[in-house]
Amino acid sequence: MSTTHPSEKLHFQAEVTQLLDIVVHSLYSNKEIFLRELISNASDAADKLRFEALADPALYETDAELAIRISFDEKARTITISDNGIGMRRDEVVDNLGTIAKSGTREFLARLTGDQKKDAHLVGQFGVGFYSSFIVADKVTVNTRRAGLTKEHGVSWESAGKGDYTIANIEKLTRGTDIILHIKEGEDEFLNDWRLRNIVTKYSDHINLPILMKKMVTVDEKETAPKAVEWEAANRATALWTLPKNSITEEQYKEHYKHIAHDFEDPLLWAHNQVEGGNLDYISLLYIPSKAPFDLWQHQHQRGLKLYVQRVFIMDKVEQFMPNYLRFVRGIVDTNALPLNISREILQDNATMTKLRSALVKRVLDMLDKLAKDDPEKYAVFWGQFGNALKEGPAEDFANRERIAKLLRFASTHLDSSAQTVSLEAYAGRMKPGQKKIYYMTAETFNAAKASPHLEIFRKNNIEVLLLSDRIDEWVVGHLSEFDGKPLQSVAKGDVNLDELVGEEDKAVKEEHKKQEEQIKEEFGDIIKRVKEVLGEQVKEARISHRLTSSPACLVADENDMGMQLQRLLKAAGQEIGDIKPIFELNPTHPLVSLLRDEKNTERFKEWTQILFDQALLAEGGQLKEPGLFVQRMNKLLLELVK
Ligand code: ADP
Ligand code: MG
Repeated sequence: MSTTHPSEKLHFQAEVTQLLDIVVHSLYSNKEIFLRELISNASDAADKLRFEALADPALYETDAELAIRISFDEKARTITISDNGIGMRRDEVVDNLGTIAKSGTREFLARLTGDQKKDAHLVGQFGVGFYSSFIVADKVTVNTRRAGLTKEHGVSWESAGKGDYTIANIEKLTRGTDIILHIKEGEDEFLNDWRLRNIVTKYSDHINLPILMKKMVTVDEKETAPKAVEWEAANRATALWTLPKNSITEEQYKEHYKHIAHDFEDPLLWAHNQVEGGNLDYISLLYIPSKAPFDLWQHQHQRGLKLYVQRVFIMDKVEQFMPNYLRFVRGIVDTNALPLNISREILQDNATMTKLRSALVKRVLDMLDKLAKDDPEKYAVFWGQFGNALKEGPAEDFANRERIAKLLRFASTHLDSSAQTVSLEAYAGRMKPGQKKIYYMTAETFNAAKASPHLEIFRKNNIEVLLLSDRIDEWVVGHLSEFDGKPLQSVAKGDVNLDELVGEEDKAVKEEHKKQEEQIKEEFGDIIKRVKEVLGEQVKEARISHRLTSSPACLVADENDMGMQLQRLLKAAGQEIGDIKPIFELNPTHPLVSLLRDEKNTERFKEWTQILFDQALLAEGGQLKEPGLFVQRMNKLLLELVK
């Protein structure tokens, strides 16, 4: 026996104690899931052993028949779940059962308010795992030995789930892990063969491993000597994805998802494909969760699919199967096209991998396409959870840009609601006869976009504008210059071509426009020059606006310059973008602009000009360099009005 590690009492990491508490108190109405979690861990442990044994068959010792055994003892009030999987070393026990490795855990737990702590769904989203044992047990003992180590290297871990645990070295003859649950008073329903079998078939029927339970023997009253224990499989133990699609029920698909994704909720959608023959032999079972995991937006988000080669589990979380923008997809891939001894390094640039990846991405896009067409409401749910991830698509996946563009949804002036439900296709279908471009407005918030003066002329002419206010949107329009041959155009950039909005056929209107324009030029040409002089280096140019109807002035970016919203985002991210000056546009029909035109006092002309400029900057969501000065000027002019 090793003497370097005597029995020790250790404390859980603070997050574990917190999570334990929440798990126990939020899952009381769904207690039975503890068994699913423990079976899932045992099955993972068997998968890991199978994989490691590919390189080192000696790890099987004398027992190559992988199985999970479940038994219970009514008198001792215990349920035991045993596996002959990979097992754990002492340090692994400490790490796996005493800490939570997931990044962002602390933040997640801190964010949960009192009410949410009772919400099983929120906790389930996090993945309850091993700690769910404490829903039904007031003490849990884990005896384990890592495959490949000798029997002296067994480890026993024990805890009442109240903040600390003990850990000791033990002798353990068999490889793998025994979890012994000491069942709480009042949870006796689980000390029952029928009940346990029921839970097994409900959640774990399809696990790729037999779950054995003791055979029920009708007790012969005369016989007193105990019979030899006979074990029988309580589940079907076939890999679900290998079964014919029409033999699999919805429930089974859902349970399989929960098993592989460690999720508590049903998936939103799945696609099961069995591609046999040909040079790319694979089965895929891909799921889209119904809720985004809490860490989807964190850099270290764990993602990827499970990889099986010829039914043998090879690795978890293979990232190469899915691009980043589809990182929320969960599922498994089982293929005969890769060698069994494939490693993560080899996966990096393997030609088969590349083919598999593009086939799988196509599967996901197909699945989303179909959902968008068949069930827009459900698609809206998907979009609410994962839309912002999908928006990374046009930049990341050039080859599929058109397909991804079809899946995007935006808010727009058509609905004037912040709901992102408008597709580019729907927009295109509503375009005015002469309209050639798809117009959009980006701003910090939906309300800012909606209220922007840039929209005035579009509203007046009944032309739809997409209202973009997610940070990622600038990125989307930056990489999606057109859709279906129609260029995307910011309404805050360049000049607005009224003629286009009116339609080509309407010659009379065009003539009228021309006339008006010349008149305005004559009337305001001089003013514009003076305004530019006053504003100096603050602007690139001053000009008459074609886009304003009710605001006096606005700022726009030059056609080829970076948009103002993107400038702000990049600046906020600490990027050096140089000094990009806006164009200052004045609305000739606005009374304040007429006032400016008629202002004879040079000093006051300057004040008015600066105020209009500052206002335009504010309306744009920008920040004034000297807000105090703006207020002073404003008050001065107001006082003159009162006089
Ligand atoms: P998860 O399964 O999502 O990783 P769990 O809380 O269920 O989280 O388990 C934590 C870790 O404990 C597992 O990742 C695994 O490393 C280890 N573990 C749990 N049960 C077993 C087992 N039966 N055999 C080997 N390792 C296990
Ligand atoms: Mg688990």
